[in-house]
Amino acid sequence: MHIRVGDLVEVIAGADRFSMDGTPTRARVLQVVQGRRKVIVEGVNRVYKLVRRTQQTPQGGRLSKEMPIDISNVKLVCPECNQATRTGARFLEDGSKERYCKKCGKGIGQISPPKARRAKKAGS
Ligand SMILES: [Zn+2]
Repeated sequence: MHIRVGDLVEVIAGADRFSMDGTPTRARVLQVVQGRRKVIVEGVNRVYKLVRRTQQTPQGGRLSKEMPIDISNVKLVCPECNQATRTGARFLEDGSKERYCKKCGKGIGQISPPKARRAKKAGS
């Protein structure tokens, strides 16, 4: 699965699965934890930490922080069809690679730039 910072995702597991009004939680990806297949999603899996007043945290008190969740617990929301979807990856004719929505088939952003050697040759 290809999830990137700034993507809108739907949370499909865990305590933050539903928002206050009972609809599935949709939020932006703040960070992708490379190598651990985890993502930090805005407002999801938030923990509170009580901190003493220091120079770094002059206000002290209760700080909230989002903890990473497994990437398999989120689904990308397709900007084209607005559905939580699986994504695929495909090569385009110019050799670039893009993500696409498995529901509507529309491309959702480039994964890697065009590479001449991957470009389709006539007849191959
Ligand atoms: Zn779509």
